[in-house]
Amino acid sequence: MSGLSDSFQRPINYLRISVTDRCNLRCLYCMPSGGFPLMPRHEILRYEEVEAIARLAVEMGISKVRLTGGEPLVRRELPSLVDMLSRIEGIDDLSLTTNGVLLKRYAISLREAGLKRVNVSLDSLNRERYQQITGYDGLNDVLEGMEAAREAGLEPVKVNMVVMRGINDDEVLAFARLSMEAGWHVRFVELMPFSTYGATLKFVPASEIQKRILSLGPLEPYPLSQGNGPARYFRFPEAKGTVGFITPISEHFCFCCNRLRLTADGKLRPCLLGDEEVDLKKPLREGASQKELRRLIRQAVALKPQRHRLTEGIIPQGRSMCQVGG
Ligand code: SAM
Ligand code: SF4
Repeated sequence: MSGLSDSFQRPINYLRISVTDRCNLRCLYCMPSGGFPLMPRHEILRYEEVEAIARLAVEMGISKVRLTGGEPLVRRELPSLVDMLSRIEGIDDLSLTTNGVLLKRYAISLREAGLKRVNVSLDSLNRERYQQITGYDGLNDVLEGMEAAREAGLEPVKVNMVVMRGINDDEVLAFARLSMEAGWHVRFVELMPFSTYGATLKFVPASEIQKRILSLGPLEPYPLSQGNGPARYFRFPEAKGTVGFITPISEHFCFCCNRLRLTADGKLRPCLLGDEEVDLKKPLREGASQKELRRLIRQAVALKPQRHRLTEGIIPQGRSMCQVGG
């Protein structure tokens, strides 16, 4: 199989599928407190449509699939989609990104349906602060959800913490410590500017976070390769868990980008941080041939920009993160 590669010779083998624009949280950096106007339900791809697109993409060279949202676990019967996708030959990594609030309820059925692992987004270990950041008193649900995921074998469970100056940056040590004491795999994520939250939130560069957590001990590079993502991983000596850094701002990783994104309403998005999209839903619903759909997938790949332009102040205007899925 020749596989997919873009105009900059980057192999494209990873598809992130947003299954809904709905979410049960209102994270400060992702959604306005009043939420967004929601997509009408008939605009959202049915599971059979998602499966058809995924199947085609896998035939063309995609081998990793991640489900995201909004919050993917608010979509009804998500395990049945996982089951459908897990039967596609050629997907060797099927994972989920979730806020974890509903994870306890679904961990076992997700695992039984064929999900391999989960990433959980968690920005504070303090109950009140968690509520301030997300608009919901759900810290305990998330911690229980992570435990349930681990018990169900959805491992490694990775924790994504978006670090915001003056809001939760005083917790980076506590998160890093959990990589030593509880075997957590923590990833510190640099906040990305989106038009939805204005200039009120401030990012903290990974270099500063790294410097702060070095007070816990030396960090050794750790090759946690599963998923082939943009994070750089390290480990404290003897720690069971790891710490990682995702640095879209201070050190962009576009040169190794291997991703395509499918929005809940069926648009292929070549870049998270660009507004370009290729519609697959309309042709799919109008009965386009496999050949035509393949052409559209290749077109989306060809539209991948060399790199994002966030640092030059060019930020996506069309969709917010919760409408793309991170
Ligand atoms: N609802 C799920 C969740 O929170 O994990 C999946 C969708 S969410 C959009 C995916 C990821 O994007 C989360 O880890 C979230 O923290 C991250 N995210 C959202 N907005 C962000 C921003 N402005 N900067 C950095 N990460 C962001
Ligand atoms: Fe919802 Fe995830 Fe966005 Fe938070 S980050 S508002 S949980 S979609």
